[in-house]
Amino acid sequence: MRIPLIAGNWKMNKKPSEAKEFAEQLKEALGIKVNVEILICPPFTALSQVAWMLRDSNIKLGGQNMHWETKGAFTGEISGEFLVECGCQYVILGHSERRQYFGETDEVVNKKIVTALSLNLNPIFCIGESLAEREANQTFVVIKKQLDGGLINITNISNIVIAYEPVWAIGTGKTATPEQANEVHAFIRETITQKFGKDSANDLRILYGGSVTPENIDSLMLQDGIDGVLVGGASLKLESFLRIINFHTQ
Ligand code: PEP
Repeated sequence: MRIPLIAGNWKMNKKPSEAKEFAEQLKEALGIKVNVEILICPPFTALSQVAWMLRDSNIKLGGQNMHWETKGAFTGEISGEFLVECGCQYVILGHSERRQYFGETDEVVNKKIVTALSLNLNPIFCIGESLAEREANQTFVVIKKQLDGGLINITNISNIVIAYEPVWAIGTGKTATPEQANEVHAFIRETITQKFGKDSANDLRILYGGSVTPENIDSLMLQDGIDGVLVGGASLKLESFLRIINFHTQ
């Protein structure tokens, strides 16, 4: 059974004091939730304080990026080992904002995935097409290329989560319809079946991301191929994030 994962990507939002306060409020409002896995990914500078705040909860912590090397002369970078020591169990890799603004290629994303797995950090591997690519009917071509490139030298995907995030839906208020998302999720699962076999593909969690809100979460989670969501903007406010966590599937 695939346990739904609801992940909040705070991007470059919330100072450490604000992040700590939010984590405390989230923990109090949620109590211990068992049928869904909850993850928050604050900025690096808030990780330690948030980890301390969440120590007696089952809300998990993730980083938003990392370097593929574990240490060395890489000024301004963060190592996966640091994330682990700060209490992270997950790391978002290949987010479209990293690809778009920081030039991350499939090759770079692949190197990061390999390192994260070696450190027992679970990668949330983000893929998705741009609007121009969708309009040119290239969605499946792009998704296949990103999957092939990102998963080179990976033999076991049991600790990987894939997030399908159409670039045109991120932070734009335009969501893929549940059917559009489910169609791509089915394609991803089929591609993973061919690469890693049916059992691995059946166990793989594929999240949808792109303008998820309290208004659209229920219909997205009704789709059989959508195993959770990666939420940006709507994860920054307690009320909307709680509503998303408490999605209804019927
Ligand atoms: C994201 O950052 O991964 C994301 C999906 O953002 P938003 O929910 O704001 O579109």
